[in-house]
Amino acid sequence: MVVVRAFGTSSLDAKKREIERLAALEQLDLLDTPKDEGFERIVRLIKEIFAVEIGLVSLIDAHRQWYKACSGLTADEVPLEDTFCRYVVDREQPIVVQDATHDPRFAHNPAVTGESHIRFYAGVPLKTKAGHVIGTVCAIDRRPRSFSSRDLSVLHEMAGVAMDRIELLQSAATDSLTGTLTRRAFRQEADQLLSLALRHQHDLSCVVLDIDHFKSVNDTHGHAAGDQVLHAVTETCKANLRAGDLFGRLGGEEFAILLPHINREGAAAVAEKVRIAVASRPIRGTFGELNVTASFGISALSIITKDIETMLAQADAAMYHAKHNGRNRCVSWNSIGADGPTGSRRRVLKAGSIIFNDHRSTIDCTIRSLGTDSAGLSVSSSAGIPPEFVLMIKGEGFETKCRIVAQDRQTIEVAFKA
Ligand code: GH3
Ligand code: MG
Ligand code: MG
Repeated sequence: MVVVRAFGTSSLDAKKREIERLAALEQLDLLDTPKDEGFERIVRLIKEIFAVEIGLVSLIDAHRQWYKACSGLTADEVPLEDTFCRYVVDREQPIVVQDATHDPRFAHNPAVTGESHIRFYAGVPLKTKAGHVIGTVCAIDRRPRSFSSRDLSVLHEMAGVAMDRIELLQSAATDSLTGTLTRRAFRQEADQLLSLALRHQHDLSCVVLDIDHFKSVNDTHGHAAGDQVLHAVTETCKANLRAGDLFGRLGGEEFAILLPHINREGAAAVAEKVRIAVASRPIRGTFGELNVTASFGISALSIITKDIETMLAQADAAMYHAKHNGRNRCVSWNSIGADGPTGSRRRVLKAGSIIFNDHRSTIDCTIRSLGTDSAGLSVSSSAGIPPEFVLMIKGEGFETKCRIVAQDRQTIEVAFKA
């Protein structure tokens, strides 16, 4: 039998598969979520069982590999193009590299030639029940070594345990460190409050806050001090909220508040009250005394903002404006004004390209939110990206000129140019 394959079909299939893979990852809503002891245990076991220096459970979006748990490396994430794991995702198969210096795919990889000095890599796919590879589970070492088929099947089992944990977490309602709602639970409860507000025509607003320069707290005083700060900030927020307000942890040091019966102006006043409370309360712990601040973004229910995804995306975009304008301040979505986007925006997870320099330079990005006149992007590093560029969504034929309206180390807010 002769199988005739139309030219380009396989690459179209790959694009479709990648779009579905990212949709499956988005559905799980796990990227940038807080540390979890279950995954920490898995990476400790990997190191213990295989006697390797590094164990990883990672999730892979459009531009980076993000470590849900990692033991033996200091980074939280790495650009996807530099990773061994992207081969596991592309092939949907495990790979074992006994000595990377002898493998033409990896011999020139910065992780091999640079100070990480990686030599051995074994990675298996983290696969959903529907068969989408959302990440990897890996054993990595700085010396060459062998890996038996039995070792590989044990690593497979570990990936199974990690996937079971992911499924279990889908039903967790509170975050273990701060006791606040998990991102998923926050969304679910927010959805219900939103339906009620729409039905009865009540006001409803949303505040997103992110602790300023939190990384330097961890870097200077250690992770345990960072955890104490997170706990203290949570307590300060709770003390300034009412019982009917929703309070959730969206990610590491990012929180969301949903305020029923409160309009945008009221929400701006609540945010300002919380901002002052956080900034004026010194945090005492084993590290001594510390002062932290946070940046706030505010959005409200309106004719064009009728779902929690849009409210969160708008509050998030406003929060990035607050960061961009000096931190320790509150910004409302509507007051971004002529300088920025005004239309509605939805949270998405799409693979994109940032194209500039007359199409000679391309940088991979993940599109995190998207509207008719604006988008929020994540990149491995925003350094070197010019103020104006072309944004492309891979596999969708979408291409538009845009300009940066706010940016920080790994996040870019853009407005589309007419
Ligand atoms: P910005 O003002 O722009 O928000 O800067 P930042 O340093 O706060 O932001 P960035 O996103 O660069 O760093 C956030 C850090 O939060 C990095 C990550 O390691 C840390 N983090 C995330 N989750 C936890 C956690 O549960 N505990 C501790 N201690 N740190 C965490
Ligand atoms: Mg921060
Ligand atoms: Mg943050």
